[in-house]
Amino acid sequence: MYKCLFVNKSMYRLLIVLFIILLCTAFFIAGKKIFTVSAEKSSEKAVLLPVIMYHSVCEKTPSDYIVNPQQFKNDLAWLKNNGYSSVSAHQLIDYTHGIGELPEKPVFITFDDGFYNNLSLALPLLEKFDMCAVVSIVGRYTDDYAPADPHVDNYSYLTWSDISELIASGRIEIGSHTYDLHSNKSERHGCTKLASETVEKYTEMLSTDIGLLKTELIQNCGIAPVVFAYPFGALSQESLPVIRDNGILMTLTCREDINLITRDSDCLYGIFRYNRSGLLTTEEFMEKITKN
Ligand SMILES: [Zn+2]
Repeated sequence: MYKCLFVNKSMYRLLIVLFIILLCTAFFIAGKKIFTVSAEKSSEKAVLLPVIMYHSVCEKTPSDYIVNPQQFKNDLAWLKNNGYSSVSAHQLIDYTHGIGELPEKPVFITFDDGFYNNLSLALPLLEKFDMCAVVSIVGRYTDDYAPADPHVDNYSYLTWSDISELIASGRIEIGSHTYDLHSNKSERHGCTKLASETVEKYTEMLSTDIGLLKTELIQNCGIAPVVFAYPFGALSQESLPVIRDNGILMTLTCREDINLITRDSDCLYGIFRYNRSGLLTTEEFMEKITKN
């Protein structure tokens, strides 16, 4: 009797333990499912986007702002071999407005300053690897420097007809790098606001500068830029409202980090970029920008 009771009691305890284990397992599975669903939901429209900032692509000694054509070719080959597809500014803008999808591994390629070699040496390689890019030009360089000494791979700037050729390739979008605020010599650093300047004066100055390049691009090449690259990555808190009011839908900084692209168009203001220094190998650079 006692033995029987003991067995029953043990079995009873065993059943309770089994029941608790079963209950915990059920909660664990259900919890995991709920967590997975909510994680999927929150990341549904967020895409990791590395952005590369090039300047000059030529046969000069590589530096922080110069890569040679072989390095550029290696970069594009690496991206291709590792499953990356380049995306255009318009694709990104559309995506943030709920239009279309982005490739599984997008990369955004940008060039600053408007060097002629972006056309003569970089474009043929972009064509070879079926990639696209944004070239952000400085209006003053195109108006004054480019026609004075055109079409030298190592140092010339793009003329208006070179820019039209880039656009006609269907692979290059043209961004604004300001008309005349890309100078280290003036009191102002890039397009920042001077301490002595009122917000009204600053707004007028920046608006006039951006408007001038926009007008010249419309007149000479038939396009209005929607991408703006801050010269030297320098900006003030008063900069963005002025830039937005001038039709810019995407701004590019020089801060190095990965971007998270969502269906919210505001995420395109303040895009982070990795400067492609020619002092790194392709592998060293790509490891840096894809570590996330
Ligand atoms: Zn620049």
